Amino acid sequence: MKPLARLRRALAVAPQAWALAAPYFRSERRWIAGGLLFAIVALNLAAVTMLVQINSWNRLFYDALQERNATVFWQQLGHFAWLALGYVVIAVYRFYLTQRLQIDWRRWLTEHMLARWLAGKAFYRLELARFQDGKDGQEGATAMPDNPDQRIQEDLNLFTGASVGLSMGLLNAVVTLVSFVGILWGLSTSVGLPLPAALGGPREFPGFMVWMAVLYCVAGSAITFWVGRPQMRLNYRQQRLEADFRHRMVRVREHSEAIALDGGEGVEGRQLGGRLTDVLANYLQLVKAQKNLVWFTSFFGQAAVVFPFIIAAPRFLSGAIQLGELMQIASAFDRVQGSLSWIVDNYADLAAWRATTERLGGFEASLTAQARAAGLQPEPAAELAVRNLSVALPDGRPLLQQATLSAAPGQAVLISGPSGAGKSTLLRALAGIWPWTQGSVQLPQDAMFIPQKPYFPDGPLRDALAYPEHPGRYGDAELRRALVEARLPALCKRLDEAGAWNAQLSGGEQQRLAIARVLLKHPAWVFADEATSALDSPTEGLLYQRLRDLVRGRGALVSVAHRDSVQQFHGTRWRLDPQAAQIHVEPMKTASAT
Ligand code: ATP
Repeated sequence: MKPLARLRRALAVAPQAWALAAPYFRSERRWIAGGLLFAIVALNLAAVTMLVQINSWNRLFYDALQERNATVFWQQLGHFAWLALGYVVIAVYRFYLTQRLQIDWRRWLTEHMLARWLAGKAFYRLELARFQDGKDGQEGATAMPDNPDQRIQEDLNLFTGASVGLSMGLLNAVVTLVSFVGILWGLSTSVGLPLPAALGGPREFPGFMVWMAVLYCVAGSAITFWVGRPQMRLNYRQQRLEADFRHRMVRVREHSEAIALDGGEGVEGRQLGGRLTDVLANYLQLVKAQKNLVWFTSFFGQAAVVFPFIIAAPRFLSGAIQLGELMQIASAFDRVQGSLSWIVDNYADLAAWRATTERLGGFEASLTAQARAAGLQPEPAAELAVRNLSVALPDGRPLLQQATLSAAPGQAVLISGPSGAGKSTLLRALAGIWPWTQGSVQLPQDAMFIPQKPYFPDGPLRDALAYPEHPGRYGDAELRRALVEARLPALCKRLDEAGAWNAQLSGGEQQRLAIARVLLKHPAWVFADEATSALDSPTEGLLYQRLRDLVRGRGALVSVAHRDSVQQFHGTRWRLDPQAAQIHVEPMKTASAT
């Protein structure tokens, strides 16, 4: 990357950081945030004041030593004890309040991001969009965000922590610099430089030590930037590779049974090994880049110890100044140099902060884009009515074009078509969660969808049954009745048992539990996607009959199912024709229960 482009990219992080940071300081927490910030700034200023005092103390103390004056020596030691105690108290509270600010900010920002991720089903859309255009895993702010869980859990913590830490460090450096530059200037003599006539002839330079410190640190910072260049990119990559490695292991855990049955441990082991190799290869590059920086910063730090003595010693040796003044100059130089070296000292943290800010900026941008691209929203109505509905795949391939459909209370509709025709996707479009949809959908509000793979939260069975509502809404008798009606009487005794129900229950049991949930909540409209595909035929028949009874006189049942045995419970068929991307409405020949 060209230096100008690199600089432009480095500067582009500032508006991103501002966009992430500003809302908290404008939120309802602004008084707490402002109060903490004010206190931290005040403590920072107080800490610098103490350092200034300690610097003046240097002169008196070392002069007392040089003059072998025991009285002043002990007096100054006592003075130092007070100064040191004051500094320690300030340092402790500065640390504590900084952490409090970071915790409060993290909480607010995480809650805020979580709300945005969950709002408008962005969490689902982001997953769909991730594989949409093969951008998964790209680096930089334009890439689709990988691992939103990591963004929210880890990056927000890093961002708030580093933002508070670095900005307070910078403030401290600036205040220290301003305070000690004055002191150092006062202690410096002017030095005559024999400049040639072309440059105005010999000239006196006041504040010689200050210019030396500035020169030393500007050179140091420039070299640090140059040496530390690769770190930014490597840091970004490291985070992503670590997340990919972890994600792969989570997949093994989630699909442990299938992998065990397939005997997939070998290939999983190799894949995991490959990801670990990637993680460590990048880490090694990062360490090598850091090693170069450590070479430089160590030299820089060590040289800084003797540099002021080299510059000021001739005056001491010639007797122009006392030891006290020399020590005061050295200490003031140390402070000025320390503040000016802020970039050198914090380069690695700045690199990590910038990478985090870019990732969060990318995540934020894609959340905004998802919210803007929120597809079709069903309008509430008494009946299901679909007009000019077009449903497409993420790549634009049409699944359904300009379909007009309706279902009135009392109807039972079977959506059929070959596997992959788009039956489940049509249900997603009706529910309003499929983004690549056009047209209009009217959907009764009292509707429930049973997905192919139901989800149950880990925890007590009653929570899984009542999900997403609070289990307290339903009495034990209601919960048990629903279980019995769904042919799960054995679970009635286990309402308070905590479990991982998606993993523990058989496929058929999970489908029955999903139906029990519907029977518990008795919606008027039920949309079932292969909701009984894992059940034996008699149980399937019983449950379908029960679902028909549930909606009778109030709403309708719309199902996706392949089995012939299910057909008898439906009066209308919507047959998907994938070649023509059309849907045909046909009366069912075998309709029995209407
Ligand atoms: P089945 O009877 O096998 O369950 P279906 O008719 O319900 O199939 P859908 O699940 O709706 O089919 O899928 C329709 C098509 O859309 C398939 O070709 C599938 O690969 C594709 N598809 C579904 N989800 C996505 C997605 N997130 N990204 C890309 N393609 C998708």
